[in-house]
Amino acid sequence: MKSILLNPGPVTLSDAVRRATAGVDLCHREPEFFDLQDRVIKALLDIYQCAADEWSAVLIAGSGTSAMEAMMASLLPDDACVLVLENGVYGERLRKLAEIYRLEHESLKFAWGAEIDLTALAGSLAACKFTHVIAVHHETTTGRLNPVEDIATLCAEHSTHLLLDAVSSFGAESIAFSHQALQAVAATANKCLHGIPGLAMVMCRHTALQQGIQQRSLSLHLPTWAKHQQERSTPFTPAVNAMLGLAEALQELQQQGGWKARGKRYRELAYRVAGVLEGAGVKPWLPAAESSSVLRSYHLPDGMTYEALHDGLKRHGFVIYAGQGDLAERLFRISTMGEISDEDMTRLEQAIQSVLAG
Ligand SMILES: *Cc1c(COP(=O)(O)O)cnc(C)c1O
Repeated sequence: MKSILLNPGPVTLSDAVRRATAGVDLCHREPEFFDLQDRVIKALLDIYQCAADEWSAVLIAGSGTSAMEAMMASLLPDDACVLVLENGVYGERLRKLAEIYRLEHESLKFAWGAEIDLTALAGSLAACKFTHVIAVHHETTTGRLNPVEDIATLCAEHSTHLLLDAVSSFGAESIAFSHQALQAVAATANKCLHGIPGLAMVMCRHTALQQGIQQRSLSLHLPTWAKHQQERSTPFTPAVNAMLGLAEALQELQQQGGWKARGKRYRELAYRVAGVLEGAGVKPWLPAAESSSVLRSYHLPDGMTYEALHDGLKRHGFVIYAGQGDLAERLFRISTMGEISDEDMTRLEQAIQSVLAG
């Protein structure tokens, strides 16, 4: 039986992306590869209509965390003073990166799943001269969508730059690229873009890349990758096959109506999942209006362990996702990213009903 992945990446691939990934053997020092690289860079800029004279789409080999790390290692000057916003696992990871790179930082911390208190953020920005705010757009820990527009507006009011982890929202949610405060956005091939793992990217304003910051990393240094890519080159072996798959996946995204249509599709499927779960007495962790289109989390059903729920659904061909940390005992997560057909959805609804009926 074909498995449908309902975890937040890697996602179920389309047949065309799966085929493209292993379609040809390509040397990364040949013009065919650089044509592919140019095509992927252009398609990434086009998703949110980022002007090529303002933004670079910098491709790197690695996972979503590599994109976060490249952003933190490359774009923050030694005299930066950073405010990290935390309300889940990925906000914590950003703080950890600030520690590892010995950046002067403070953390504005909220409980996992709690909303970011904008009044508190305004207070922090007014009280202390932060040069950068670092935030997570979609906190995949709980499915909460953080208010990136409002955060960017507050940053602009305080002449503070914003760096964003949009690893699980890029390609499906609105991102305020036109906001001058927004300097860089970390993303990955294998979540909302429907490619395979191994390739990540950071969308960077040219001005952010051109600060002349002292280099702190060899293989995660964004100006190095960007310079080579602008010159139809690559500094190291890139994720060639992931790039083949991503080129196909980006074409599909465009043909399917772009990020807005993708977000709408995810949300429709998420509503169907929530509907059938609620019918069986399973409650969502967060209200729909505060959740992303990409993923929602739910209270574990009374009297059922996560393992029983997971294993039951897996027997029907669906892979769901556990909570992280302390939330593992209390919630489970279902993402509706990836190539999921209407027939898959109907089977999923039946599977949920069957497993929950015991
Ligand atoms: C998945 C995810 C990451 C990390 O991606 P990896 O590919 O697991 O390294 C970072 N941030 C967010 C918000 C994510 O959802």
